[in-house]
Amino acid sequence: MKKNLIAVVAVVLMISGVAMFLKQRQQASASSSANTTGKIRVVSTNSIIDDMVKNVGGDKVENYSIVQRGTDPHEYEPRPADISATAEADVVFYNGLNLETGGNGWFKKLVKSSKKNFGKEVFATSDGVKVKYLTTNVEEEDPHAWLDLANGIQYVQNINKVLQKKDPANAETYQRNTDKYVAKLTKLHEEAQTKFSKIPSDQRLLVTSEGAFKYFSAAYHVKAAYIWEVNTESQGTPEQMRHAVKAVNASSVKHLFVESSVSPKSMQKLSHETGVPIGATIFTDSLAAKGKPGDTYYTMMKWNLDKIHDGLAKS
Ligand SMILES: [Zn+2]
Repeated sequence: MKKNLIAVVAVVLMISGVAMFLKQRQQASASSSANTTGKIRVVSTNSIIDDMVKNVGGDKVENYSIVQRGTDPHEYEPRPADISATAEADVVFYNGLNLETGGNGWFKKLVKSSKKNFGKEVFATSDGVKVKYLTTNVEEEDPHAWLDLANGIQYVQNINKVLQKKDPANAETYQRNTDKYVAKLTKLHEEAQTKFSKIPSDQRLLVTSEGAFKYFSAAYHVKAAYIWEVNTESQGTPEQMRHAVKAVNASSVKHLFVESSVSPKSMQKLSHETGVPIGATIFTDSLAAKGKPGDTYYTMMKWNLDKIHDGLAKS
């Protein structure tokens, strides 16, 4: 009996000890979110958005990017570090247009479990972009808007607007950084449009694994073909392969392209079956690893535009 009582007292003491510890920790984290560094904490869902935030925010912002470089952001399983970074963030940027909320819908769950709210701390960088829809499912938005630099500029403007609102003390810095960055992106966009217009039109077909190039196609006047339309569906089925082989054989395309964030197997198979070589690995849903070519949004787009242009222009 006495033994039981001691056990009960021990459990009660343990529980109250844990409760006290948790309360202290909560207080500690509340005071640290008031920013010991003086910077606002921004979480982005992927490396492309994260890089745009760095360009706008400079040293006024503390960044955290969720989906690792080289990884597909359509389907993702947040790690404990992602959940705590999101819970502590002042601002959370996501692409929207079904990128993180299609498939397993990982981002909606993350926002809920980290007690954030859409429109309050959570903002879509694609706001205001003219949406394109999937051809296989006309009600589903195609997320890959950033592959048209004009849309990328819209993303940057949206990030600028949110940062200025959340951190008015640094509004001038954000505006200055934005103006400089937008000028650089605009120049690349205009140069690319001129360059692509000089390729013979029957050679302007971009073949990739995922049909991620609808926005790119419209911006740079290149038709797009693919093996599967979006990464959330099954990839490289016999029917998809048959369609892709037919499209390649019906064209006079000189090179195929494979994306860095998908398995290259299906594209290798398509190349083998059509005899058309793979021209280059290009970037769609992720930047390159740090230190490699294409490790920023600007250099990723420049890489894509150069490689695709050169691969299609060859006679
Ligand atoms: Zn994608």
